[in-house]
Amino acid sequence: MRSRPTPKDLELCRYCPSLCQSRCPVNLALADIAWSPCGKMSGVWRLQEGLVKATREATIPLHMCLDCLACREVCDHGVEVPDNLAGARLAADTHYAQTQNPVDTTWNTQKAWETLRSCTPAWRCVDEAAVLLVPGREMLEPEGVDQLKALFQVLDKLSDEVVGVNPDSVLDDGHFSYIHGNLAQAKTAAGKAFKRYGKYKRIVVASPHNLSFVTLHWPQLGYDRSKSVMGVIEYLSSAMDWNHSARFDGRVAWHDPCHLGRHLEQYQLPRDLLKWAGRYAPVELLHNHGNSLCCGGGYPMSTRDPDGAAKVTAMRVAEIDASEADVVVTGCSQCVHTLREANPEKPIKHLVEFLAEVL
Ligand code: SF4
Ligand code: SF4
Repeated sequence: MRSRPTPKDLELCRYCPSLCQSRCPVNLALADIAWSPCGKMSGVWRLQEGLVKATREATIPLHMCLDCLACREVCDHGVEVPDNLAGARLAADTHYAQTQNPVDTTWNTQKAWETLRSCTPAWRCVDEAAVLLVPGREMLEPEGVDQLKALFQVLDKLSDEVVGVNPDSVLDDGHFSYIHGNLAQAKTAAGKAFKRYGKYKRIVVASPHNLSFVTLHWPQLGYDRSKSVMGVIEYLSSAMDWNHSARFDGRVAWHDPCHLGRHLEQYQLPRDLLKWAGRYAPVELLHNHGNSLCCGGGYPMSTRDPDGAAKVTAMRVAEIDASEADVVVTGCSQCVHTLREANPEKPIKHLVEFLAEVL
């Protein structure tokens, strides 16, 4: 987490032959070098140096990123472009992030709690949960609630008696404010959630965006809960009977969500689960593992420039269409929503929906 871009990184990107150009989905989808990592970093540099005025036009490069980390995979210099862009959005002396087309980063936690409570078996709504479930923002949107219900079905099928929810399950952890350039709001939200999470021995987070923010970024704010926080896939897989026989008969492929894959390096466990669940070995999409392609749902671009982000989605949809997969499974509600909306013909499932069917 940076509160401003790093001058050394800005210089490296300006003089680099742009090793990462071919990996940036925004550059590829919009066919514009201005949106390559190098182009965006040059835009930040021009603003920092005062070479251009902080007009709406000049600040667009700060938001043309999906936080997918694909550029990091090929950068020989160790530059983290999304972190630098986030730093530029947050920089105290650069007023452009919040004055230009601001995104409302507040979260209606009361509404989120009502949604969560309505989908949760009554006995799991408890003040003192042994294991607190944190679904994350996207699973509590109208298009995510079926995934939430499927998650409870999976927990029931695994005879889990310890996962519970209460209003702490819908606390804002600061991720959405941070990624949209509101550091003050992010810090306040993270501090409050950090304190409340201290009540629990175990916190299971379903959203990879929130999981990576809490485990990788919170410690940089001085809030470290990495020992008690774990992802829902790890939690469910630890409770499963791996000797159980296969039930799924079709070809299945895993779409690597950027925050589970490149951010948290969780590639193998979901593939092991698909292998366990299916008669056939999982097939791979053209880009996979560290080389995977973002679904276009990454922030801040998907909120700042949804039409541009949809062009990234179209690239991933084309790969899905060209694959042999009968069903594509993923571990992020934002990926599910983005891919389903763009490709209603193809079955796209969250892992919990897939498990609810095969367990
Ligand atoms: S991120 Fe790395 S590879 Fe890409 S332009 Fe910057 S220095 Fe070059
Ligand atoms: S994080 Fe992804 S979208 Fe952002 S600059 Fe890097 S490759 Fe492009």
